[in-house]
Amino acid sequence: MRDLGKGTGEIAATLLNWYDRNARELPWRTGPHARARGEWPDPYHVWLSEIMLQQTTVAAVRDYFLRFTALWPDVTALAGANDDDVMGEWAGLGYYARARNLLKCARIVQQTHGGSFPDTRDGLVALPGIGPYTAAAISAIAFDRPETVVDGNVERVVARLFDVHAPLPSAKRELTVLADRLTPEQRAGDYAQAVMDLGATICTPKSPACGICPVRPACLAHAAGTAADLPRKSPRKPKPTRYGTVYVAHRTDGALLLERRPGKGLLGGMLGWPGTEWGDAPDDRPPFDANWTRLTGEVRHTFTHFHLILDVCHTTVANDFAPPAGQFIEHANFRPSDLPTVMRKVFDLWRDH
Ligand code: SF4
Repeated sequence: MRDLGKGTGEIAATLLNWYDRNARELPWRTGPHARARGEWPDPYHVWLSEIMLQQTTVAAVRDYFLRFTALWPDVTALAGANDDDVMGEWAGLGYYARARNLLKCARIVQQTHGGSFPDTRDGLVALPGIGPYTAAAISAIAFDRPETVVDGNVERVVARLFDVHAPLPSAKRELTVLADRLTPEQRAGDYAQAVMDLGATICTPKSPACGICPVRPACLAHAAGTAADLPRKSPRKPKPTRYGTVYVAHRTDGALLLERRPGKGLLGGMLGWPGTEWGDAPDDRPPFDANWTRLTGEVRHTFTHFHLILDVCHTTVANDFAPPAGQFIEHANFRPSDLPTVMRKVFDLWRDH
């Protein structure tokens, strides 16, 4: 096992001390002073924020979190929410399986656990949408259990503290073992957030601010001059490009034809425009016969595993037209914000024409 210049207990104490003075104020967080006064975080807030923060930045999550908690202030309210309302509020945040699992999880917590989240990692990981990382984070932050929480920030800090040169993702296991060595028995929730804050504000990816870092005396990468190169990452495979066509049908009274996508799969359960499958080559299969016009320009969007290029076709139909699938949404009831980002880009292109 690698050696640090300082005892690992001392590193945790130093980070907690730094966190007491520098913790970021986040709407879902119960800060260190409130915790010291005996206030506990609301597990509903911790859970909701952790689900929203999966693959998403703090800046993007903040407004969504505030809107969700204003609309549904506790898990009972969320469990009773209308599915379409929740999917609409989630629109734009991406990774829509999270929203479907959010509702499933809220309903199980309400129906099976009497509206209280389980307070252990094992109890939490049994719920929909909660993987090992999120279970550890909720268990540590909401219930102060000494769980080791390893997200991207923590991986970076630990790789640097221990000067680990093995590339991610294969180094994950080693980094988790090392992170576990640092986790204290007391104040595990504050400690988890302290490391996340250090990674987000000082030990940042490109240019770590080692000059103001509280754990610099113990940091092996700083001593070796390798901090900015860590963590190493295995080269990624280039993403393939997929193609498709979407069809914007517009009634003369201003209503727009939309359809709810199937519950499973990419953008599952979200509103979208009728369109072709997304494949290796452009395809053109309108949802019904009409005088379709292809718009100039295209919509480009990147998902986790592929780039997408969409052609957009448009037609206008009479007010009494009955579509074979989907539903016309009246102009007054249509909110572009209910659409996932890629579908909103289609709307923007169409509107600009
Ligand atoms: S000294 Fe530099 S590299 Fe080491 S933990 Fe601090 S900011 Fe990160």
